Amino acid sequence: MQGDGQAAAKPVVDAAAAPGGGQSAQEERHVDRTMALRWFALLTLTALLALLAQASLVNEGLLRQQIQARSQIESLEAQVRQLNDTVEQLQREKQRWRANQSPTGAAYGEKLPEKKTAYLTFDDGPSENTAAVLNILARYHVKATFFVNGNPTAAGKALYQRIVQEGHALGNHTYSHDYKKVYASMDAFLADARRLDDLIEEATGLRPELLRFPGGSNNLVSPSRRFMSELTRRVIDAGYQYVDWNVDSLDAAKTTQDRAIIVDAVTQQAAGQDRVIVLFHDSQPKRTTVEALPEVIERLQAEGYGFESLTKNAYTVKFL
Ligand SMILES: [Zn+2]
Repeated sequence: MQGDGQAAAKPVVDAAAAPGGGQSAQEERHVDRTMALRWFALLTLTALLALLAQASLVNEGLLRQQIQARSQIESLEAQVRQLNDTVEQLQREKQRWRANQSPTGAAYGEKLPEKKTAYLTFDDGPSENTAAVLNILARYHVKATFFVNGNPTAAGKALYQRIVQEGHALGNHTYSHDYKKVYASMDAFLADARRLDDLIEEATGLRPELLRFPGGSNNLVSPSRRFMSELTRRVIDAGYQYVDWNVDSLDAAKTTQDRAIIVDAVTQQAAGQDRVIVLFHDSQPKRTTVEALPEVIERLQAEGYGFESLTKNAYTVKFL
C-alpha cells in the first residue's frame, strides 16, 4: 500500500517537478526573446539613425546645390544686366555715328542734309503749350515736327490744322499714349495709331507718315525687346517711318523741368553732332519747355544749325 502510496506519490512529486522544469525553459525562452527583441530594437534604432543621418546629408547636399544654383542665377542676371548696358551703349554710339556720318555716306538710303541741321520735335500735344510753341517757331521762322496724341475737341483739331498750315510736320504718337493699351499687342498698337490717323485726316485731310513710339522704340514698358523689334517692322510695313531722337531736352525727367536744365541739355548733347533730332514735350505741364525754346533756338543758330521738319525720307534716328 505504501508502495502504492509511494507510487502514487511519485507522480505527484514528478508532477510538481515537471511544471518547475517547464517554467525555467520558458523563462530561458522568454529571456532569449527579450534579448532578441532588444537586439532587434537596437538594430532598428541604428538603422533609423543611419537613415536619418543619410537623409540629413542628402538634405545638406540639396541645400548646397540650391545655394550654388542661386548664385549661378545671380551671376547670370548680372551678366544679362551688363549685356543690356553694352547694347544700350552700342546703340548710343551707333546713333552718334549715324548723326555724324558724312553726307555721302547715305548707306541707309536717307537723304542726309549737307549742313548742320536741327530737327526739333514736340511730343504728347496738342495742348495750350502747342499754341505757344507754334507762336515761337513762327517768330524765328523755324520748322519743326509734332508727334501728337488724340484730342478730338474743337481746340485739339484746330491745333492739328495750325501745325499743318504753318508748314510743320505732323506725326503719329498713338491716340491714347496709354502704355498698357498700345503695347498690349501689335494689333492693339496699330489699331490705336490708326484711330489717331483717322482723327488727323478728318481735321487736316492728311494721314501721318511719321510715327514716334510712346517711350521711344527702345522703351522699357513694352513686353520685350523682341516685341518691339517685331513691332518696328510691322509699323514700317504699315507705311510709317518711325523716329527716335539723339538729343533729349530732359523736359520729361520732371513734370515741369527747370528751364536752364532744358537749355543746357540740348546745347551740351548737340555739341559735336551735325544732325540732331531733339526731343521736347508740349503737353499741359511743359510750360518751361516753351520758356526755354527761344534760347534753345538762338544757341543752336549760333552753333550754325538750320532747322527743318522731318519727312519720311529725311534723316532719322532709330534706337531699334
Ligand atoms: Zn510721349
